[in-house]
Amino acid sequence: MSERVYLMCISCGREFERDTLIYTCSSCGDLLDVVVEPKSLFRRDTLQGRVDSMWRYKELLPSFDKGLVTLGEGYTRLVECKKLAKWIGVRSLYLKLDGLNPTGSFKDRGMSVGTSTALRLRMKRVICASTGNTSASLSAYSARAGLECIVIIPREKVAVGKLFQARLFNSKVFQMVGGFDDAMTVVLKCAQALDAYILNSINPWRLEGQKTTAYEIWEQLGRTDIAVAVPVGNCGNISAIWKGFKELGIHGVIKDLPIMIGAQAEGAAPLVEYWEKGLETIRPWKNPETIATAIRIGNPVNWKKAVRALRESKGLITAVSDDDVVKALRAMSSLEGLAGEPSSAVAIAASKKLVDEGRIDPDTTLVSVVTGNPLKDTSDYLISWNEPVKITDANEIIGYFSRQK
Ligand SMILES: *Cc1c(COP(=O)(O)O)cnc(C)c1O
Ligand SMILES: [Zn+2]
Repeated sequence: MSERVYLMCISCGREFERDTLIYTCSSCGDLLDVVVEPKSLFRRDTLQGRVDSMWRYKELLPSFDKGLVTLGEGYTRLVECKKLAKWIGVRSLYLKLDGLNPTGSFKDRGMSVGTSTALRLRMKRVICASTGNTSASLSAYSARAGLECIVIIPREKVAVGKLFQARLFNSKVFQMVGGFDDAMTVVLKCAQALDAYILNSINPWRLEGQKTTAYEIWEQLGRTDIAVAVPVGNCGNISAIWKGFKELGIHGVIKDLPIMIGAQAEGAAPLVEYWEKGLETIRPWKNPETIATAIRIGNPVNWKKAVRALRESKGLITAVSDDDVVKALRAMSSLEGLAGEPSSAVAIAASKKLVDEGRIDPDTTLVSVVTGNPLKDTSDYLISWNEPVKITDANEIIGYFSRQK
């Protein structure tokens, strides 16, 4: 048989058998981690020629045999960006383009493992709350898996591309008054009554897929003495990526562990507040507000895991203004021809801020995770710096350029 896989509470250490239908510890109520004990391990050279998805790292992933739900997620491009490195002020910069995933965000990594687990548990129905991408991704994977999918999103401020995807893949979509945190409360209330499997990032199997971003950065870059910048909303992805690096360390694949850099928007920064004020527990924000709608979250479910990632990696976290997010998006797009949705630009803006403040060494090799595709959110205010000129004939174009001289 394959590796040993089980669940473990992050607080009291209680273990649960793999096929337990559970989201949090039944003893103390805290979050759960998936633990995979590999039988053997890959090395960089043994990975050559394997499938070009995240499933190339099978030794450290739970196996599903015939029941695997996959759309070819992961193994996204890592692209060096010299001009943007200069703009941020670091020696070198690589963008991890997770917007290239099947539905355009890193959520697909988690949903591959998550929906496979739903089938394993013989669930017929899945449910999630979402700021957009979780619902887009779960909808597509549910269609693939033959699961019925229920989606609860805020009535306002969900990017149109994301809502389009949830509808396109035929989920039952409910639009709720309030924000993500209210939608999450509703999911927790009705999942059991509806016999629906919850696939928000409170579900530890999601993060198990998302940890593969770390394996890819290691394999593609060939080094891990780096800093990795990640936008932070519900705190799942930064925790997952750190888990991935930590496992490579524990199993002796790498020696150096990266510094994790968390990035929040000023209008939705409960984790930054917790960290900077040294609070005892996180203080939920009532009305989070930012143009980076993917991280417009006031009560992050996975905050304890993110705190662990920041502590263990000697990491940094900061918040940036929406104005700085637009500037970072403009810098990415005009200097490199690459972009992401606003939340991805939050990580770029935060990295620049931390360099300016002297908290990131300019000698750093930085990897910034571009978490979502720029086509997800095409709101006009993101590109107000480049208005189209309305014309009726060729002379107006020629006239426009002669005026420019
Ligand atoms: C979900 C999401 C985030 C935030 O990730 P968390 O795990 O909630 O911290 C950031 N950017 C994009 C594009 C996302 O879809
Ligand atoms: Zn516990």
